[in-house]
Amino acid sequence: ATPMSIMTATGRGAHAGVLVKDAAALERLAAVDTLVIDKTGTLTEGKPKLTDVIADGIEENELLTLASGLEKGSEHPLAEAIVDGAKARGIAVPGSADFEAVTGKGVSGTVSGKKVALGNTAMMADLGLDPAALEDRTEALQNEGKTAMFVAVEGRIAGIVAVADPVKETAAEAIRGLQAMGITIVLATGDTERTAKAIAKKLGIDRLRAGQLPQDKGGFVEDLRRRGAVVAMAGDGVNDAPALAAADVGIAMGTGADVAMESAGITLVKGNLTGIVRARRLAEGTLSNIR
Ligand code: ADP
Ligand code: MG
Repeated sequence: ATPMSIMTATGRGAHAGVLVKDAAALERLAAVDTLVIDKTGTLTEGKPKLTDVIADGIEENELLTLASGLEKGSEHPLAEAIVDGAKARGIAVPGSADFEAVTGKGVSGTVSGKKVALGNTAMMADLGLDPAALEDRTEALQNEGKTAMFVAVEGRIAGIVAVADPVKETAAEAIRGLQAMGITIVLATGDTERTAKAIAKKLGIDRLRAGQLPQDKGGFVEDLRRRGAVVAMAGDGVNDAPALAAADVGIAMGTGADVAMESAGITLVKGNLTGIVRARRLAEGTLSNIR
């Protein structure tokens, strides 16, 4: 495209809440046939709320006290939900020591003198723990689209905390619009298959990759490209940065992590997903202007 047509498109995009960092990204968007899209904070609001506390062999209040004390040290949206939920239930959230975060898995540390870990099945597996006994409860929560996390206390799984993260108002319309343009949508998330499926079903997305670690998302994008797809990746988190950088076009949420925006060619200022549809139309217009 000519510099002028790109500037016009970029100007128009900025007006609509779409920031284009490099003009080449907008040009490549016109050729995209596959969109890989993250769940938490991208398709969903990323402001999950604590919905369930299931204690096993421990007081419910103590479980939530230990869980929230640990999550106080994390910046993950799931952590914030647990801390806020605990406070709303009148719990004085303690601090932690030896805090450690494991990307895509969970957190661990010492709270009120007890060793506590919180996270998904992979996190528990790293500790040699198997949440099989809580499987039915977990599956029921996940079928509702909730994210269930296990809490281990002193080397024993002592319960589940679950959060629900509402789907963005703009998500369904954006997905429909992109599908109408012939773009294949793939949901890629670090969350479980069951939870991802519930969200995908709500939005009419039929392809998904669950349980993805940050490097998995990046590898998946590279794989698709190797097989000839022209790939856009949309995401908000630190965990999405490798995939955003690996894609033909990276699309970051302005509401997300700085490193995501740094890795992307396009930023949706307010995380409004219909911006992707507008940017694509803009990109097509930019190219047809010079033909
Ligand atoms: P997504 O790809 O959906 O944005 P992440 O990769 O950030 O999600 O996280 C994947 C999974 O790892 C979460 O669904 C959760 O089970 C677990 N996890 C990550 N960080 C935390 C945390 N601070 N507390 C509890 N669980 C966590
Ligand atoms: Mg995310």
